[in-house]
Amino acid sequence: MNTQSTEQSNSLISADNDKISARGKSVLNQGEVALVGSGPGDAELLTIRAMRFIEQAEIAIYDRLVSDEILALLPDNCERFYVGKEQAKHCVPQDKINEILVHEARLGKRVLRLKGGDPFIFGRGGEEAEYMLQHGVSCHICPGITAASGCTTYAGIPLTHRGVAQGCTFITGHIQNNGQLNLPWQSLSCPTQTVVFYMGINTLPKIAEKLVEHGRDINTPAALIRKGTQPEQKTYRGTIGNLAELVEKHNITPPTLIVIGDVVNQLTEQQLKTPGFLDANDYVQPVSVKIA
Ligand code: SAH
Repeated sequence: MNTQSTEQSNSLISADNDKISARGKSVLNQGEVALVGSGPGDAELLTIRAMRFIEQAEIAIYDRLVSDEILALLPDNCERFYVGKEQAKHCVPQDKINEILVHEARLGKRVLRLKGGDPFIFGRGGEEAEYMLQHGVSCHICPGITAASGCTTYAGIPLTHRGVAQGCTFITGHIQNNGQLNLPWQSLSCPTQTVVFYMGINTLPKIAEKLVEHGRDINTPAALIRKGTQPEQKTYRGTIGNLAELVEKHNITPPTLIVIGDVVNQLTEQQLKTPGFLDANDYVQPVSVKIA
């Protein structure tokens, strides 16, 4: 554990503790669970409320998407319980995770359920909260920055932009239990809308085919963002037509987000040297910029 960074981060949070938390609503009592979104990886994107729950945790039950940088912020004496999942290789099934949460809370511990991004966006946080309530366990809920927001911002992509994208849809590209990918293709093909696919890397060829079949221009800018907001963040820009090739060529694996829409090249067509930092010295106006 990196003590120096932990001390720094803790003092950053604690400095304004009294000013911010006079209401004391982020107090994690014994026998309660805090269901906390840890964001897409960069510890600086944690909310102050998330940080407060982290500091109080006696046991942390966490997923694969929670970054090492964030795990390093757990108190030294906090038990760690990994229930991570990789596609098609579920370490701990969801039913079991639910039972563990209730069991640990009933032992009287302060339980931190730490999840990547936002617990209520493709995170099964709703199911976990429901199960806990049904079993008499109270639960604090704390949002996190979801991957669609954190990763695109750190890649220099605004999700909406006046005159370019009037809206944005977050959707899962994960294959359904019936083996199908039944999505509202017609509405996803609207040209003034940004579409962000979570869990879509393995179904990408199908996604591209369906969007084009329903009228989205094959040359629409698109991007793949892998490990967004983390030191290893990589952004691959292309078009709907060549995204699947990019995946093959660069051997891109999860966690990767797919972003489709004209906003992709709005501010830059480059990979940012420092994720989350738009350097004016590197600015070249992208040819695709539309001036109203
Ligand atoms: N609850 C999470 C999403 C979980 S679904 C959230 O709100 O962000 C898992 C999918 O999210 C991954 O397959 C990937 O598509 C996306 N994802 C999560 N974190 C990511 C990251 N740091 N970089 C890129 N994609 C990420």
